[in-house]
Amino acid sequence: MPVKQAEFFVSNSDPAKCPKPDRPEYAFIGRSNVGKSSLINMLTGRASLAKISGKPGKTQLINHFVIDNEWYLVDLPGYGYAQVSKTEREKFAALIDGYLTSRPNLLCIFVLVDSRIPPQKIDLDFMDNLGERGLPFVIVFTKTEKLGPTKLQATLDTYRNKLLETWEEAPQMFVTSAVTSAGREDILSFIRPLNEQ
Ligand code: GDP
Repeated sequence: MPVKQAEFFVSNSDPAKCPKPDRPEYAFIGRSNVGKSSLINMLTGRASLAKISGKPGKTQLINHFVIDNEWYLVDLPGYGYAQVSKTEREKFAALIDGYLTSRPNLLCIFVLVDSRIPPQKIDLDFMDNLGERGLPFVIVFTKTEKLGPTKLQATLDTYRNKLLETWEEAPQMFVTSAVTSAGREDILSFIRPLNEQ
């Protein structure tokens, strides 16, 4: 079932000012340029709900959207800009940390990775960090229409094996493309039952 209603709610640079945790919440995060805005627009069926990247590294905001009057979709700032200063990186880490530790309604974090590139330390470290905190997350592979089925399967296997070096279980994985809308129903069908719990 497609999303019926998607509305921007609020932007914050301070996690303490995020909306009251009165609805189930799902956060989307990944490296800059991974395709996060495109995926959010594809999932919600809105051409420009999330802004397709302007300049990386500028104001870093936590954006809340209300979907179908039922759940919050949260667009977290992208990480891993090469050009930012140490101070900026620390500010970013504090922002994400503050967010992750203050949302009791956060049911799942969607960690986006570009299916065309090999696993990056920054992504694996971020996932390990979520695992250590006991925060539920899944992996979303973006831009998958660029890969044939064999390469795609190899990418999925590589991530799974990497994570199984540390963890007993690998997280659920979603194969998506903002170009073909692949993965939209899979992700929405994953979210909806969690909302009911
Ligand atoms: P963000 O920085 O993570 O929000 O990434 P954007 O959504 O702004 O996308 C970054 C770039 O990747 C843009 O040039 C998009 O057109 C491109 N892109 C995003 N999703 C896809 C996809 O599914 N397939 C392809 N081929 N390109 C994509």
